[in-house]
Amino acid sequence: MLSADFSRLGEEARAIAAAGADWLHLDVMDGHFVPNITIGPDVIRALRPHVTLPFDVHLMIAPADPYLEAFRDAGADIISIHPEAGPHLNRSLQRIRQLGARAGVVFNPSTSPEVVRYMLDDIDLMLVMSINPGFGGQSFMPSQLKKIEALRAMADAAGRPDMIIEVDGGVNADTARQCIAAGATALVAGTAAFRGGPAAYRANIAALRGEPATPALT
Ligand code: ZN
Repeated sequence: MLSADFSRLGEEARAIAAAGADWLHLDVMDGHFVPNITIGPDVIRALRPHVTLPFDVHLMIAPADPYLEAFRDAGADIISIHPEAGPHLNRSLQRIRQLGARAGVVFNPSTSPEVVRYMLDDIDLMLVMSINPGFGGQSFMPSQLKKIEALRAMADAAGRPDMIIEVDGGVNADTARQCIAAGATALVAGTAAFRGGPAAYRANIAALRGEPATPALT
């Protein structure tokens, strides 16, 4: 939702859901862990009645632990945290599951896949940042394709073919194909999804899926 019109988020959520989005990815930034400030639990709570799609909440905040419950209460279905946000990643992940959400770990471009090797059982999703977190509209970093491959291999070797590997940053129709080929199973699109306004959302999402463009139903 980072590339949506923030003055009418509810409407934008409904439009992107109607256009075929599977989840809503909500980027929470605190101006401390990352340079930018976006939204908090109150905005997520306000969005919740607008769509039934799962809310995929990406916390770029430090510390994250004091706010996990607030984001879950606000309607988060998946909560992802950065290992750098707190001293005890495993405890934070367990807390997210205790709250009834799915637990995700986010990898900055410089974060090693090794941070999760011995705790895969406590993780539902791994989110690879293919840009430096903090702003939308940045270009995809091809260096992160190798990390997607490494995480996919690690999850498969651990008997976790169900592990969701998600990519966030600079995803467009072209980089989407590369991410899927590397083993990703979920893609976050900001600019590429919201470009052109609501009339373009359906075609934007179809392009990301590699589907032929179909005219929007009118
Ligand atoms: Zn994100």
